[in-house]
Amino acid sequence: MPAVVSRYAVIGHPIAHSLSPRLHALFAAQTGIALEYTAIDVASAVFADTVHTFLAHGGRGANVTLPHKAAAFAIADVQTATAQRLGVANVLTRLPNGRIEADSNDGEGMLAGMRRHGGIEPHGSEVLLLGAGGAARAAAFALLDGGIRGVTIANRTPERAHALAAALADAAHVQVVRWEDLASRPPFDLIVNATSAGVQHAALALPSSLAHARTAAYDLSYGPAAQAFIAWARRAGCASACDGLGMLVETAAASFERWHGVRPDADAALRSLRDRS
Ligand code: NDP
Repeated sequence: MPAVVSRYAVIGHPIAHSLSPRLHALFAAQTGIALEYTAIDVASAVFADTVHTFLAHGGRGANVTLPHKAAAFAIADVQTATAQRLGVANVLTRLPNGRIEADSNDGEGMLAGMRRHGGIEPHGSEVLLLGAGGAARAAAFALLDGGIRGVTIANRTPERAHALAAALADAAHVQVVRWEDLASRPPFDLIVNATSAGVQHAALALPSSLAHARTAAYDLSYGPAAQAFIAWARRAGCASACDGLGMLVETAAASFERWHGVRPDADAALRSLRDRS
């Protein structure tokens, strides 16, 4: 009888651009684990049905991306403590008893992406966080866990920045600044772009006074979507500027380890992606 190949997927909309199938194929080749990993494009209205059908037909796990991270959290039977704190999930796993577990590894992946691939150690930094969406939320919790000195949140829609600050519930370390007041702020040690402006080809208005000679800039987006922010960081005199490809690879590696019990070589996978881009 032929061996049954276990099935995994990334689910989102749109999804054609996703690098996840390539990453999991690289990890499978590295570790010698046979698996099938596909991209499933699904609209919000049928997300839950699609996940249940996938898991009922041999699916063991799925990565979930925009716009379904909140829905992924909601359909799970069990949520990890990290997912509960964020209210969103990017990893679904079918447990041996058939129940669905939701987890989020975006924050952990961002810290690993910064430290291992960006040469950035956020501990002790005064951080400016741009954005207040799902990724910014994961980033903010992870940065506070990582021992930053403080985080100032700026978002196009200020109410969402205040809502994120309230969720963080750490008034001693969290502030909100209106975007138009950024020019009056002293420079930051670390500037994290967690907006989707780059993906939408929109420019961010950022004063160069936000940077000093040791400022590190980190964009969660990668590829062409990160180019404008990285170019701004260089013009502003930041010491370093890094995109979020390393974060993507680290979150994929963490998902792979959750499902297969083996940590793949994220460095080799990142080199392979960068060589081919
Ligand atoms: P959300 O849609 O939840 O949030 C988008 C954020 O961007 C909001 O704060 C929004 O502000 C802001 N924004 C959008 N357009 C503009 C604009 N033109 N000017 C200023 N701000 C803008 O998205 P996510 O938080 O899930 O994702 C954010 C980014 O992070 C995406 O580019 C995504 O690709 C990337 N990401 C990368 C990952 C990786 O592994 N490298 C993992 C997860 C995300 P407002 O509230 O005003 O709408």
